[in-house]
Amino acid sequence: MNTLPIRVYGDPVLTQVTTPVEDINGRIAALAEVMIETMYEAPGAGLAANQIGVQKRLFVYDQGDGPVVVVNPVIVETDGEWTFEEGCLSVPGLSWEITRPNAVHLRGYDLDGNEIDIETDEYEGRIFQHEMDHLEGVLLVERLDEDQRREAKKLLRHRRLTLGRDVDGLGQLLGE
Ligand SMILES: [Zn+2]
Repeated sequence: MNTLPIRVYGDPVLTQVTTPVEDINGRIAALAEVMIETMYEAPGAGLAANQIGVQKRLFVYDQGDGPVVVVNPVIVETDGEWTFEEGCLSVPGLSWEITRPNAVHLRGYDLDGNEIDIETDEYEGRIFQHEMDHLEGVLLVERLDEDQRREAKKLLRHRRLTLGRDVDGLGQLLGE
């Protein structure tokens, strides 16, 4: 397996905005391969490049139809509202019901440089928004409402002893 460790909250690489890919070349293809294998090993449904420490604007995902690589993604339009329980490989062991737009129109490029244009909703739309957040340096804990934050703090106090310093990082974010 060709994988890299997934960065967890507290690692500054997760809060930096990624840089657009200027040239979709063999190095980007190799990076995407490592991202896909890392995503499957976790396992997860999506992974952004900065989650393995690379500040490049691409993500991979698999909603059940095989792996897809999206380079330089842009969300063109969103519509509606959908609440879904969302977790993150970079915030291990926690998940929250989060409301976001439902329908998503995404554009980007595949590894051959061809344009990708997907209009979708629900699960796939949620993956797109979650991964786009990563590429903008935003973690899902920033999408929580006040009640969820309070609940998260409670959870963290209980889990701090067993989960160690990663959770301390999350505690900082939550204002402890
Ligand atoms: Zn995530």
